[in-house]
Amino acid sequence: MMWDKFERLKPTAKRRLISCNQCRRKSIHNALARFQGTVFGDGMPDGYGEEHGLYRCGGCDSIIFIRDHWEHEDHFTDDNGEIDFFVTTKQYPPVLSNLSDIDTSDCPESIRNIVQEAASSLDNNNLLAATILARMTVEEICNDLGVKGRNLQQKIDSLCSSLSIDDEQKSLIHEIRIRGNDGAHKSRGMSAAEVKAGFEILALVIDKRYSSPARASRAVESAKRQLRKSKKN
Ligand SMILES: [Zn+2]
Repeated sequence: MMWDKFERLKPTAKRRLISCNQCRRKSIHNALARFQGTVFGDGMPDGYGEEHGLYRCGGCDSIIFIRDHWEHEDHFTDDNGEIDFFVTTKQYPPVLSNLSDIDTSDCPESIRNIVQEAASSLDNNNLLAATILARMTVEEICNDLGVKGRNLQQKIDSLCSSLSIDDEQKSLIHEIRIRGNDGAHKSRGMSAAEVKAGFEILALVIDKRYSSPARASRAVESAKRQLRKSKKN
């Protein structure tokens, strides 16, 4: 591809509130360099634009790269009657999601792989993929448990009754299923915050189904060994 127009923008004026992986919070970043490229296409509606910028964190001095992308057809009119574009922003290195902190060590490999892929999708801001993977996580847990049901909706109901999951959590798991369907069939992904919240609920299910029983059986095995040992002594 080739830009129809490419210009260097003045970096000095631009400050942005950006999530910093080192500071572990949003902090003020100052622009070091900014460039804007535009592709006009066959007339305005077909074109798009991108701004690329290098920014330095005011808290820790680390440098990140930001890319803003907008499509000319995807615009709205603001309160002052000015035309503005919906902008999608990506940052590199991506913001860490903490999804990889979910303990899947006692899960079957299939579930572990799906959660890891969701974490990396979220870290790369691939929200449609992360949304679909959230629903797949639920489905895989149901399949692994072998719960009955003609469709995922019924399987979730069986899953929740067999694991004694309360109604409030059950309705949130159904929400993940519905949002995952929207992702798969209508290309509508959840926001990053929604994906994270969804996986916090799934982490509870994973803990209940896999981690907590595994912890219990390790504790029991260890106690039995210790007790037998002390009996012999
Ligand atoms: Zn920082």
